[in-house]
Amino acid sequence: MTDRHILTAVAWPYANGPRHIGHVSGFGVPSDVFSRYHRMAGDRVLMVSGTDEHGTPITVAADAEGITPREIADRNNRIIVGDLQSLGLSYDLFTRTTTVNHARISQEIFLGLLRNGYVFPKTTLGAISPSTGRTLPDRYIEGTCPICGYDGARGDQCDNCGNQLDPIDLINPVSRINGETPKFVEEEHYFLDLPAFTRALGDWLGTRKSWRPNVLNFSVNLLDDLKPRSYTRDIDWGVPVPLEGWRDRPDKRIYVWFDAVVGYLSASIEWARRSGDPEAWRQWWQAPDADAYYFMGKDNIVFHSEIWPAQLLGYNGEGDKGGTPGDLGRLNLPTEVVSSEFLTMEGRKFSSSRQVVIYVRDFLARYDADALRYFIAAAGPESQDTDFTWAEFRRRNNDELVAGWGNLVNRSVSMAAKNVGAVPTPGELTDADRALLATTSGAFSAVGDLLARNRQKAAATEAMRVVGEANKYLSEQAPWKLKEDPARRDTVLHTALQAVSDCNGLLTPFLPHSAQKVHELLGGTGVWSPAPRIDEVTDLDDGSPYPVITGDYDEGTAIWASRPLPPGTPLSPPTPVFKKLDESIVEEELARLEEGGA
Ligand SMILES: [Zn+2]
Repeated sequence: MTDRHILTAVAWPYANGPRHIGHVSGFGVPSDVFSRYHRMAGDRVLMVSGTDEHGTPITVAADAEGITPREIADRNNRIIVGDLQSLGLSYDLFTRTTTVNHARISQEIFLGLLRNGYVFPKTTLGAISPSTGRTLPDRYIEGTCPICGYDGARGDQCDNCGNQLDPIDLINPVSRINGETPKFVEEEHYFLDLPAFTRALGDWLGTRKSWRPNVLNFSVNLLDDLKPRSYTRDIDWGVPVPLEGWRDRPDKRIYVWFDAVVGYLSASIEWARRSGDPEAWRQWWQAPDADAYYFMGKDNIVFHSEIWPAQLLGYNGEGDKGGTPGDLGRLNLPTEVVSSEFLTMEGRKFSSSRQVVIYVRDFLARYDADALRYFIAAAGPESQDTDFTWAEFRRRNNDELVAGWGNLVNRSVSMAAKNVGAVPTPGELTDADRALLATTSGAFSAVGDLLARNRQKAAATEAMRVVGEANKYLSEQAPWKLKEDPARRDTVLHTALQAVSDCNGLLTPFLPHSAQKVHELLGGTGVWSPAPRIDEVTDLDDGSPYPVITGDYDEGTAIWASRPLPPGTPLSPPTPVFKKLDESIVEEELARLEEGGA
């Protein structure tokens, strides 16, 4: 193992429903490919996330069903945990924002910002019901969006254009409870002083040369117009504001976006507490040479390149007003904000309400996780919006996984199993043998460099190009024609199997499930690419039960280098690694989509 510590901070899926494949193409698969590569390279990875469970949409869903927000969150947390685990996403801890630990750390960050002067109280106009005189939570106010003109915008955000709003911004606001026009009265809220970070954020972004250009440009442009942002909201579901006179008020909470991003830190601390070394998180958050990579879809860039870094700078005392680090000590800023663009589906925007959607669970009920992972890595929205079509999914699966990689594995292993029953002993190598082995072993450097820079499409393409070279070698050397020359046949088969072993290493971050199978087909035993598991745990502070994703990833024997395949390792006839998809699936899936979802 190296001493390099890498935090993989994965965007928190919102717990108002199951996640679709567009979601996991943004935050899920890219973060897992990255983490698996770094673990194979010997780096110490901590990959954390959880479900984001506060905020208005969950309270609206709860109102609609007549149950509590907690019940909505419990239900969707469990569904999302199951889906992400099935996809093989190797979180060290996937938790949730409704833990006591998370509330405590969120409050600590708020208080640290307040002490350093970066959070300040301000009188603002809040809505009350004229008939009862009580505060009207943001979600109970509806009106026309001042930005896009949508009629059903809510007091805190517009679901049509996605902009965050204040109730006072709405045109023709009405109470959803009784249709009356709310009255706006002066009340106090706390604001984050974003303009006080313009200089510090600019200095930091100025050193971030390696980011994807669109992410960096977008982030730099945000600095032109920073305004204080409301840190507290009129809502009864969220982290309480840790101040006298506020703590016990049921109608004032920390704004969901400020607590959700603190989740990266609180989940790291929860992981450390569960690991038996409560201080272990500091190696990823405070060591000067530790790195932190944040993964998300592009709609979340602002919260990761502006809001969260501002919270960290303020907590550290590193904005215009100075200050000192809070009780946790100085915290590291992101190394890189790795944002994907959007995935569309058959030319349309994903939409749960319009049922243009396929949920992860339904997808994995019919297709293998690695087939989806491969599509996202090789053809996903890494740096531009990308359309998912069933025809292209089927083509990539059949041409590249089945006919390309799967065929190489199958041909090599079955010939060696049939003729020798084991990995053959090679004789003297020819130039062709040596050239192939130089290509396959040399690819670790090129593919690894691409993966370290999050150029995953190029990395997958390069790995599959090497697979193509090995298939070409096998066809040219034609070991099936070498019955009269068993020594040469064995040399060719050993070379091909060594190439399969190398290619399996190169493809392991993308295809962890099939990589384990190929490892076993090559006569390997034990865990090659570890799978995440679901543990039923209890809250460390109040004992309430919930499921988490975690795993023993140090058990994996896969390394990021060519490993000599020992002659004499027994081999059995292989079973296919990938499933060929029939032409009929395309029409079936398109019909499902027309019928309104899976
Ligand atoms: Zn709007």
